[in-house]
Amino acid sequence: MTTALFTHDACLNHNPGRGHPESPERLRAVLRALEGEAFERLARLPAPPATREQLLRIHPDLHVDRVMQAIPTYGHADIDADTIVSPGSGEAALRAAGAVCAAIDSVVAGEVRNAFCAVRPPGHHAEPDQAMGFCLFNNVAVGAAHARAVYGLQRIAIIDFDVHHGNGTQTIAYADRDIFYGSSHQWPLYPGTGSVREQGPNANVVNVCLPPRSSGAEFQSAMSRTLLPALDQFQPDLLLISAGFDAHTLDPLGGLNLTEADFHWITMQLLDIAWRHCGGRLVSVLEGGYHLEALATSSAAHVRALMTQ
Ligand SMILES: [Zn+2]
Repeated sequence: MTTALFTHDACLNHNPGRGHPESPERLRAVLRALEGEAFERLARLPAPPATREQLLRIHPDLHVDRVMQAIPTYGHADIDADTIVSPGSGEAALRAAGAVCAAIDSVVAGEVRNAFCAVRPPGHHAEPDQAMGFCLFNNVAVGAAHARAVYGLQRIAIIDFDVHHGNGTQTIAYADRDIFYGSSHQWPLYPGTGSVREQGPNANVVNVCLPPRSSGAEFQSAMSRTLLPALDQFQPDLLLISAGFDAHTLDPLGGLNLTEADFHWITMQLLDIAWRHCGGRLVSVLEGGYHLEALATSSAAHVRALMTQ
């Protein structure tokens, strides 16, 4: 069995405007990096749009309506100072969330071993009722809710190694004791949430805070000490990854010093745990990563690790 790559050209049509770091060029760089001989075995599959039913498992009606109504017919519209939409943003956002659901369908059906969703806009800052931080819908959380509603998978882990804390995903985990949310991120940094003390009322949240300029060795040691053992103990039925690559040393938005080798390492660790508890069932979705070359090489290292299974 192989690894699937879920993506869609519509995700290139979300354009927050010239100079915005979350540019269509990011996805082009990722897709270019996944061409060539080493990636020939990838099953390339189109990301379908999420249905309203899928979105409503996480987001209230009002939020879905507000996002879709904010999409302009031409030009740009600001949801907040960072979160800007263009005419193509609605379809891109629907396909970004739909990709995770479709990837879960393929992995659970046993058609592919695991999957990477190369999509944008990202999702982990999106609160159930608030778009923010470049994110419109919480793609990974919509996927988690889909896995539970359709396949009865109860215990779902979401591991987030983006340099920023996924405040939206944490909010969702706080309200659901059967979601494990584990995040490593630079501290302090946007959005300001994610201290180690934030564990949730059911202690199902683990935050690993890394000071600015932390090295890959420090990242690996912190993950091995706290997050990975807690995840192992949680015994997930499905493992989801919020794969942001902005902890890379070259990233202009983050201040950590990770390299491609660290992204490969964490992916292998997570695959190990997925094999131990859920038959290797793992779906990863792109979050941040704003240095085009580092994003390309890091996502390639991540997918190469997924393909070793
Ligand atoms: Zn980020």
